[in-house]
Amino acid sequence: MIHYDVNAKQPSAHIFNIRMRITKPSPDGQKVSLPNWIPGSYLIRDFAKHIIQIAAFEGSEDSEDALKPITIDKIDSNTWECGKTNEHLILEYTVYAWDNSVRGSHLDENHAFFNPCSLFLMVHGQENSPCKVNLSAPDIEEAKAWQVATTLPREDAKPWGFGGYIASSYEELIDHPVEMGRFDRVQFVAGGVPHTIVVSGKHDGDLDRLAEDVRKICENQINLFGNAPFQEYLFLLTVQREGYGGLEHRSSSALICQRDALPVLNDPSLKPAYITLLGLFSHEYFHAWNIKRIKPESFMPYHLDQKSYTRQLWAFEGITSYYDELALVRSKVINTEQYLDILAQSLTRVLRASGRKKQTITESSFDAWIKYYQPNENAANAIVSYYLKGAFVGLLFDMALRQFSENRVSMDDVMRFLWREYGERNIGVPEGKIEEIIQEMAGEKISTLVFDALYTTKELPLEIFFQHFGLTLKLRGAVVNEDLGGKKALTPSTETTIFKQGVFGFSIQKVQGRIIVTQVSDDSAAQLAGISAQDEIIAINGMRVDSESFDKIAKRLRIGQEIKVHVFRQDLLKEKLVILKAPPLDTAEISMQPNMNEAQRRNLELWLS
Ligand SMILES: [Zn+2]
Repeated sequence: MIHYDVNAKQPSAHIFNIRMRITKPSPDGQKVSLPNWIPGSYLIRDFAKHIIQIAAFEGSEDSEDALKPITIDKIDSNTWECGKTNEHLILEYTVYAWDNSVRGSHLDENHAFFNPCSLFLMVHGQENSPCKVNLSAPDIEEAKAWQVATTLPREDAKPWGFGGYIASSYEELIDHPVEMGRFDRVQFVAGGVPHTIVVSGKHDGDLDRLAEDVRKICENQINLFGNAPFQEYLFLLTVQREGYGGLEHRSSSALICQRDALPVLNDPSLKPAYITLLGLFSHEYFHAWNIKRIKPESFMPYHLDQKSYTRQLWAFEGITSYYDELALVRSKVINTEQYLDILAQSLTRVLRASGRKKQTITESSFDAWIKYYQPNENAANAIVSYYLKGAFVGLLFDMALRQFSENRVSMDDVMRFLWREYGERNIGVPEGKIEEIIQEMAGEKISTLVFDALYTTKELPLEIFFQHFGLTLKLRGAVVNEDLGGKKALTPSTETTIFKQGVFGFSIQKVQGRIIVTQVSDDSAAQLAGISAQDEIIAINGMRVDSESFDKIAKRLRIGQEIKVHVFRQDLLKEKLVILKAPPLDTAEISMQPNMNEAQRRNLELWLS
């Protein structure tokens, strides 16, 4: 048994004090280490850098006072080796916790959140030993009303209380994030399983409505797979001024959203930010099957001290992204038109990044560690997102399976097969297996489509398959700078603008009145003229521009017009001659054909319900 005492003694210094007891340390000198990455987020994070001090002692359980210091030496960046002992080994260490994300740990007077893999050292050779965690509240006035939210199984802790929790192994231990603080709670039952949403952070959202919408989404996903693989499920939502993200775990997920993404009391409208938030709930929940249990072979077990490679993230993240939005329409949280608009906006994001012409989604999966997770200013030109394009590959395969089999099989069957044969049986999915299953279900006809989608950079032939479902795909130039895609009524004034307005083909950021270029698209007017990311634009045609005037001036520029642009690159003034181009046709619009026939109507209905 390995004991961890978590003491949030110094919240104002953001420091956790951990005391760890190993009852049977290795007689040759016990090694302990902290993971370098957290499952679900493919970046080496070196959690050990947050350990400030560590000390080792030996002693027996009943002589706490007589602990004797023993040596502890660091042998690599995340591993320590302790001196030999025949008694219990006790480690005391402090961990700095000021990472306000779903991937690390955070502690102050308001709350504490931690992922166990950033706090708890792994005991080499005892990875499968049971662990016990004892949680204590900080000794400050604000913490008197704190509670605990986690899916770690309780030992002697009361529900939502401090005290003892247990895990059967280290891998289980680190798959249950912990929130401690004052929070709101809403509960619901889906598929006969109790679910709780815990909301931390100041907010005025309508939590009953949130719970009801999330319940429908959860029901839909449980019905898809046939059963829920957990006895309870917990969403840990932190509400902040800024930020967005989530991380999946086996029976919980950690989510962050902006305060105004929550639905407003007595306001039945469905705001885009709220739909996005529901998509996040849906995404992390779908992962409870797809990646937490249906897993790449190379993640079984996880090797958390080094990068682990798979070419299948397009399936584990991309298909999950496909289903996270599909579940919204299938559970009737949004309607068909809203779903098609969301699809169109996602497709627009795919089309606006020319990286899709250079990298395949299997390559992107493999290189996630150094590319997708470490994007630079050229990322859109160099990298394809296995999330975004992966979702459309999921859609394409789903449509093809349905069409080729005359609605006998679909991606739903692929997911159920993966769940039955791999997830439920705790078998890793070998590389290349998912595409093999799809080909077995659809027959030879789908082979080229599968190969092209996964191993080439050819555009996905979505339009051909849309026809079967009575859908039309139209591509247009962006109507205005904020045009994210989807159906937009073109007013006469915007029509004149789109057909005439010339564009630079860069993205900008307005920083304290200044215009800073953040990204330059391939083959754009800006790139051809030699404008680069980080350049500061100070004048157009000899006139000063700032964050106030830039949009107004930009709207008056015309296709083919030659303009002089002055920029500062670092502190050097440069003059660039830009020949403006027409906006590229990279903005997608997906709509239902007005004269859909009976078969198309039925195909659409079968797909979306
Ligand atoms: Zn994900």
